[in-house]
Amino acid sequence: MSVADLAEDQAVPTDLCTKSESPKRVSLFGVAMDPLRMTEAIARIQGWISHREGRCQYVVTPNVQHSVMLQQHEGLKAAYSEAGLVLADGQPVVMASRLLGRPLPERVAGSDLLPALMASAQPNAPLRLFLLGAAPGVAARAAVQIASRWPAVQVVGTYSPPLGFEHQPEENQRILARIKAAKPDVVAVGLGAPKQELWVHRHCHEIAAPVALCIGATIDFLAGEKPRAPRWMRGLGLEWLHRCASEPRRLLKRYAHDAVAFPQLVWREWRAA
Ligand code: UDP
Repeated sequence: MSVADLAEDQAVPTDLCTKSESPKRVSLFGVAMDPLRMTEAIARIQGWISHREGRCQYVVTPNVQHSVMLQQHEGLKAAYSEAGLVLADGQPVVMASRLLGRPLPERVAGSDLLPALMASAQPNAPLRLFLLGAAPGVAARAAVQIASRWPAVQVVGTYSPPLGFEHQPEENQRILARIKAAKPDVVAVGLGAPKQELWVHRHCHEIAAPVALCIGATIDFLAGEKPRAPRWMRGLGLEWLHRCASEPRRLLKRYAHDAVAFPQLVWREWRAA
């Protein structure tokens, strides 16, 4: 899949009202999710960027793995509960929401959200983006792709933190200082779950940007480092299968566990309803 494909479906009007009342959150598996479409989520993020009030607002995108993990992870639960937006990243989560009678309107994956946001940027108000995460050199390659595909986006900084950085106060301060110096509108945090959610939650009062997006492997996708599933597979809710086939050693065990645990979660919730 090419970088161009990442934004093909993402034509977002730039004049959406950013002050509209948000629909009530939907509770699923202990997570309060925002029942928003992609265009509505982008409008909300644009509003945060233009108003710049208060702390950094961050966006999380729960998928099957996160929903299962969260049941045993108080830190992740806390991070989710204070997120500015909680969007369903995964067709199985959307399908479960419908089955349980609390429907989410559509899947809003982190790897689609960032390209959609970049596509909504205007040359007269360029979007300043900081890429945090991925292996050394990958974010710089993603920045080259971004510059050619979305000229209204300026990548104002990239950084690949060393392994274990989250436990090193000095390294964390260095990252926060780099972000502050770059003055981004958006920090795209691609550190994998739950590290990225825990990090933005812990530092949301110190991140000098109006918005942070927890976006998993999106920097790798943008750089062409990892292939994203073809659109037909995503449409059928089979992106997990594609990821599993492309990184079986790392993901097979995780997905096998979630394939058993997630239906149990849905069943428990259905019985409790
Ligand atoms: N990653 C990182 N630092 C870390 C751990 C992970 O930069 O300490 C990056 C990794 O290189 C990859 C991204 O986090 O680019 C997300 O990986 P993963 O596939 O686990 O994300 P998912 O989409 O499954 O949450």
